[in-house]
Amino acid sequence: MRVPLIAGNWKMNLHLKEAEALAAEIAGAGGVPLTDLVICPPAVYLAAVRQAIGQSSVGLGAQNCWADPNGAFTGEISTSMLVDLGCNYVILGHSERRQLMGETDRSVNGKLHAALKAGLVPIVCVGETLEQREAEQTVEVVRSQMAGSLAELTADQAAKTVIAYEPVWAIGTGRTATPEQAQEVHADLRKWLSERYNPTVSGQIRILYGGSVKADNAAELMGQTDIDGALVGGASLKADSFLAIARAAVRS
Ligand code: PEP
Repeated sequence: MRVPLIAGNWKMNLHLKEAEALAAEIAGAGGVPLTDLVICPPAVYLAAVRQAIGQSSVGLGAQNCWADPNGAFTGEISTSMLVDLGCNYVILGHSERRQLMGETDRSVNGKLHAALKAGLVPIVCVGETLEQREAEQTVEVVRSQMAGSLAELTADQAAKTVIAYEPVWAIGTGRTATPEQAQEVHADLRKWLSERYNPTVSGQIRILYGGSVKADNAAELMGQTDIDGALVGGASLKADSFLAIARAAVRS
């Protein structure tokens, strides 16, 4: 049985006091039964948010990392540095990084191997643009992103990886994929994983949906067979809406 995972991607939002207060409020809620919660603040606030989370079960994730262990990579952060700060997760290949910072499947793949080696749980994002969906290329696009991003990954490593299907046209737009549209892609991703690895590994991997998930659409999305949680942007910036999404996941 796959334990649902609700991850909040705070992106480049909030300042120190707000980040600490939000983390403390989420941690103080005492968790949501049978659900993993993770918050991913801006990198500069990881240490402060770790403190605010304290001993609670809420996980801490970074929004990105660098693949090399150290060296002349100005402005970058290695996976061991993230572990030093108490991170358990790292988001990789978010569409904003793919579109705005030139992230490629190849760079995501390097970061994925580094994250797994450091013991972090990677959340690898894939998803098509509106143009690609309208051209009926969704399956081809996400399969190609999976093949490139997960290259050279063993079955054991794949089993430790989380996938997030995030249609680019649904991120931050208020436009959500219908549960049927999302399930169709999730089912295909699981099929791809089964063919690439085996049905057991495919059955273990959590595949999150992301794209304008809110408290009022979460239950229906997460009621789908192959949707195992959510990667949440805007609605993760308030404890109430983030926790309501997590509770909806439990109900469904
Ligand atoms: C995201 O940042 O991954 C995301 C899905 O954002 P939003 O929930 O705001 O669409």
